[in-house]
Amino acid sequence: MSAVLTAETADELISTNPATGEEVGRVVTAAPEDVQAAVEGSREIFHKWKTTSFAERKALVMRAREIILADIDGIAKLISAESGKPFGEAISMEIAPVLDLMQWVARGAEKMLRPKRVGIGLYGLLGRSSKKIYKPYGVVGIIPAWNYPFSIPLGEAAMAVMAGNSVVIKPSELTPLVGEKIGEIFETSGAPDGLVQIVHGAGETGAALVDAAPDKLMFTGSVATGKKIAKAAAENLTPTVLELGGKDPMIVFEDANLELAAGGAVWGAFCNAGQSCSSVERLYVHESVADELTRLIVEKTRALKQGSGDHEDVSIGPMSSERQLKIVEDHVAAFREAGAKIEFGGNADIPVRHAEDADKSVRVPLFFPPTVITGATNDMRSMREETFGPTLPIATFKTEEEAIALANDSEFGLTASVWTRDYAKGRRVAEQIEAGSVCINEVLYTHGIGQTPWGGFKNSGRGRTHGIEGLMELVQPQHIHTNRIALLPNAWWMPYTPTAVETFRGFATKFASGSLLKTTTMMPQLLKRLKELLKR
Ligand code: NAD
Repeated sequence: MSAVLTAETADELISTNPATGEEVGRVVTAAPEDVQAAVEGSREIFHKWKTTSFAERKALVMRAREIILADIDGIAKLISAESGKPFGEAISMEIAPVLDLMQWVARGAEKMLRPKRVGIGLYGLLGRSSKKIYKPYGVVGIIPAWNYPFSIPLGEAAMAVMAGNSVVIKPSELTPLVGEKIGEIFETSGAPDGLVQIVHGAGETGAALVDAAPDKLMFTGSVATGKKIAKAAAENLTPTVLELGGKDPMIVFEDANLELAAGGAVWGAFCNAGQSCSSVERLYVHESVADELTRLIVEKTRALKQGSGDHEDVSIGPMSSERQLKIVEDHVAAFREAGAKIEFGGNADIPVRHAEDADKSVRVPLFFPPTVITGATNDMRSMREETFGPTLPIATFKTEEEAIALANDSEFGLTASVWTRDYAKGRRVAEQIEAGSVCINEVLYTHGIGQTPWGGFKNSGRGRTHGIEGLMELVQPQHIHTNRIALLPNAWWMPYTPTAVETFRGFATKFASGSLLKTTTMMPQLLKRLKELLKR
């Protein structure tokens, strides 16, 4: 139902609104040679851009913020139309967080990337000093998913540009117009021609971008595509950050504020129609409060309106694509077959509950109702594979150890949350969970805190975006080492002699101990060696 490539429009991507089936717009796709040319052109721009000051880069990114702010509703409408997410959510979960990330990186990049002295221990006694400087990679290729089509690629592009790189983005084929908008924002902000380029197309265009050998790749998407990209990138040894899928657990202890936990679970599982990499996809609750938590969750879910994202009172939109809808239907069916109980939802034929949408004569089949499931266990297939839809399966546990073991029993490790009034227990449990981010009495939203590292453990990814760690992914450290007493040869230079070997023993046993006291005892041997070298 969404963007399609057809024979007559082989060079066009048609983007459609998943809530209505109506065309949102179309873009021209790039052939592999266009992608290659984009990367080559980008490299030329890079050589100029890398010489700009942080002040110039900051001015560009801050202007881009102003341009977004001036058209906040227009951009939110476009995001909502292409992805199906509610208009308000496009503002709260995409525009607001990326604006914050942009101001943070624009203001802070210079300090974070300032040259730093490196302590080199006893080498300092020999008159040596070291510092590291951070150099941009060059062309950063960005291949995002469709679920956060604005904030993820724009945030990565802003960070890349602040670090002195140029950028080529291949937006998801489901959300090309949002990608186009990102290019337009940089253009209107006065970015040099081609600093942030957009190339359109589906997987093959993404593959062409990988093959065009950018200097760094930032990929967001499924594990399966991530593996293909890692293989293809290895051909050119292109360093790659992979932001992949999740099956994120939420642990609710018996002492948690259940009202809050229920609200967190509903938002965590159903925002963006469950199509967030950090969606709650497994809820583990202490058996003593499972019934009460389920009751609260069902009550809150029943109150939600589902429909076209352009209505301000709609909380849940459609699935973004038919492919996603099928996965959700399959997972819910598998839960049923395995003996789990559907407490609410579970049937894609439930009419859309927004009155105006329900009245539409043509029914768009991409809606799936928010679905609450109990009796889930980790051996069910749907508790192991990423669903990426509005399902909230609930399982129970008896002890803290069991809760941790259940949460960690997954190939994924993106985020997790722990709900308890006992903060010491919360931290203790959080630190034992194998995930890139763990929240205590909070859920899902930390991608929105640009200052913090974002990325997964296990199959959820490699590398980080956001935070200083994410900025460091976009630069290469260069070590500059200086010898300030450039008068004498080094004791370890050639020619080697018995005196040299004795001195090397001293280096191994005394100097390499890190002890100044021990090192001073090797001075006579060192002087002997230097005299020997000077005589030659
Ligand atoms: P996907 O892997 O199908 O596609 C992602 C992107 O890769 C798209 O732009 C696509 O065109 C491109 N692509 C496809 N095949 C390619 C190839 N062979 N070479 C290069 N590029 C190729 O994923 P999706 O369905 O768009 O997104 C959903 C997935 O993204 C979920 O698994 C979700 O968890 C994950 N995700 C992760 C994060 C994170 O931060 N970890 C954030 C958002 C989404």
